[in-house]
Formats: sequence, structure tokens, C-alpha cells
Amino acid sequence: MKRLALLGSTGSIGKNVIDVVKRLPESLNIRLLSTHSRIDLLLQQCQELRPDLAIVSGLDLERDQRKRFSDLGVEVWSGCEALEKAAGQADYDQLVNAIVGAAGFLPTLAAVRRGKSVALANKEALVIGGELVMQAAQTSNAEILPIDSEHSAIFQCLMGEAHQTIRTLYLTASGGPFRDLPASEFPAVTVEAALKHPNWSMGPKITIDSATLMNKGLEVIEAHWLFGVERDRIQVVVHPQSIIHSMVEFADGSIKAQLGLPDMRLPIQLALLFPHRLDSGLPHFSFHDHPQLTFAEPDLQKFKCLDLALKACDAGGMSPAVLNAANEAAVQAFLQRRIRFDHIPPLIEEALIVHRSGGKVDAEGLLASDRWARKMVEQRIAQQGKF
Ligand code: NAD
Ligand code: MG
Repeated sequence: MKRLALLGSTGSIGKNVIDVVKRLPESLNIRLLSTHSRIDLLLQQCQELRPDLAIVSGLDLERDQRKRFSDLGVEVWSGCEALEKAAGQADYDQLVNAIVGAAGFLPTLAAVRRGKSVALANKEALVIGGELVMQAAQTSNAEILPIDSEHSAIFQCLMGEAHQTIRTLYLTASGGPFRDLPASEFPAVTVEAALKHPNWSMGPKITIDSATLMNKGLEVIEAHWLFGVERDRIQVVVHPQSIIHSMVEFADGSIKAQLGLPDMRLPIQLALLFPHRLDSGLPHFSFHDHPQLTFAEPDLQKFKCLDLALKACDAGGMSPAVLNAANEAAVQAFLQRRIRFDHIPPLIEEALIVHRSGGKVDAEGLLASDRWARKMVEQRIAQQGKF
């Protein structure tokens, strides 16, 4: 029985993790749950799963709210440092990080430093601090198992292969809802249109990142650290059907691909059970339903965010942390209808240009760059005024 600490249990990935765990009650058990602010849903989850510990990271709880947890026999912690503390101290076998955004970085680092297995959905942790996290994992012998579908695909393609035989990692991208929309129409893109992803149902931030293709840029950086492959050996391929989740080409020219329905429960289950595979009753794929798989090159002129992410990856140092934080701030402002869809890339670009490189690339330095970039984006939005 594996005991899981699930961070971000009230989100899209978190709920899928709970679904997988409920399908495999003999193998998996959840001992910790967390939400940023959805207390009622967290309480419902506690009622059903009876963990030891629940965390509300975004709020300080009143006494009567604490009582609702203690009545269920669940200890509750609150506040922004509770996740890092729990990852570093609580009793569990595997940390499942399903938090969105930079907040996932320190808990990941804390778990990895303890040598804990980490099932990682939170790509931002590796975008910000990939070098630190991977170094810590090497030192402590912690395994990091990807939940992101592309990285799970690559991880599976690499099973049984020697690292030096990797020629190219191909990350597939659906292209998002605006794949065929001319860039001239980007200023008129509404929040509702950007939140409608053709193939996947996900949280709001990653859905907007999928519409700008920033998501694929973050995933290139994630793959670079996770698999130790140079950026110029990682290519993005637009594959609108989202059936091939990614591919690896080897030295001899042979290519392995991993296929399946676009259902996050598949990569989640593999990360939680690895190295085992079990039939948990998830829907199966039929080739007859998918007679056509197509491929195209991404348009870096139109999808500027992808281009910016590739450049930030090449620049290294603080640049990916600045890119990530500026993107988080810009996406939030777009979701709050304070800026337009086409305002997102120039704000990130400016943060990358204005940020002074240098400084020590440790957790503190990276988080200082993160804070700086968010502030810069907010200041620029305030200066621009109402659009
Ligand atoms: P979501 O918005 O649906 O859920 C996010 C979860 O994190 C919630 O439980 C929320 O309460 C918590 N949270 C939000 N802000 C927080 C903060 N500042 N501190 C602590 N907790 C916070 O997001 P999601 O779609 O489930 O995505 C989670 C992560 O998984 C992201 O990094 C995303 O890129 C990655 N991912 C998601 C999918 C998907 O299908 N949804 C696929 C691949 C990767
Ligand atoms: Mg992905």
C-alpha cells in the first residue's frame, strides 16, 4: 500500500488523482489533501478519504472552520508555508504535486531533498528551479515521475534505452483553440473562447497557457531538466488530435511514440503505480475512432509565448523563473479581464529584457526574480490603464 500526500487535491489534476486512487484501493491510499481556498470541497474530500492531514494554503482558518476538520478526525494546517512544511515533515511515501504555479516549487524541493518519490504535475517547479530540483534528486536518490502527459510519454519511450542514444525528443502540442485563427484576430479573443480547449479539460491557468502555446514552452523547459536533454534536441510538433502524447527518436533513426486517449488518469496512474501497470477500468482506445493523425510545425511568429520560452530556456539562469512569473501574472490579469489576450506576450518579453541577469541561482534568488517579474508586469499593466 502506497501512502500519498496529494497537494492541490481540489483542482483538475487533484480530482483525477482521487479518481485513480478510488479505482485502486488495494494499492493506493491518500494521507494528505490540500486546497488553496476551496474549503468546502476539501472537507467533502476529507469526509470521503479520511486523511491524517488537510492543508488550506491560501487562508488562515477561523476556529469554527478548524472544528469542521477535527470533527472528522483530520488535523488541519493553514497558511502559505504549510505545504513546504508538510512535504518536508509529514509521513507519506510519495508526494503528488498537483498545485498550479510557482507555489509548487518549494514543496517539490522539500520532498526531493528528503529522498521522497514525487509524482509531478506541477511543471512550474521544474521551469523555475529545474537545476536545483534535479541536483537534489540526484543527491538524495529521489525519483521524479512525470504526470504531464508529454513527459509521461517520453518517460515511457525511454524505458530500457540508453541516454546517449537519444537523438531528439518530440513534444506534441494540440495547437490549442486558436491554431487556425489568424493573429490579426487575437486582440478580439475573449476569456470564454480561450478557456475552451479542444481536447483536454484542465484548470484555467494551463488552459490559457495552451491557447498561447506557453504551455508547450514550459514543457520544453520541463523536459530539458527532467530528461537531461539539450534544448536544441527538443522539438515541438503540432498534432491536433492529441493521441500521440510525445515521441523519442534514437541514434539509429528509429522513433518510439506513446499513444492513448487524452485522459490524464492514464499518466497519473503510471506515476502512482510505477513500475507496475494495472487495469483500473479506464476507457480503452480504438483506432477506428481515430483514423487520422496529422502533424505540423508550430508557428513561432503567431505564438510568441512559445518562442519566448525557448529563448528563456537557452538563456538559463533566472530567465525561466522570470518567464514563468511574468506569464502567471499576465494570465491572471487576462482571466480578470484587465488585459487583452494579445497583451500577454509583450508583457513577458519586457520582463525578460528588463530583468538584470546575474545573482545566485539558488531557491532564494529564483524566488526573488519571480517576485520581481510579477511586480514589473503589474506595474506595466497599471501604467497602460484600461484598454
Ligand atoms: P487547477 O487550477 O485545476 O488546480 C490547482 C490546484 O492547486 C487546486 O487544488 C488549488 O486549490 C491549488 N492552488 C492554486 N493556487 C495555489 C497556490 N498559490 N498555492 C497552493 N495551492 C494552490 O490546476 P490543474 O489544471 O489541476 O493543474 C495543476 C498543475 O498540473 C499545473 O502545474 C498544470 O500545468 C499541471 N498539468 C495539468 C494538466 C491538466 O490536465 N489539468 C495536465 C498536465 C499538467
Ligand atoms: Mg502537457
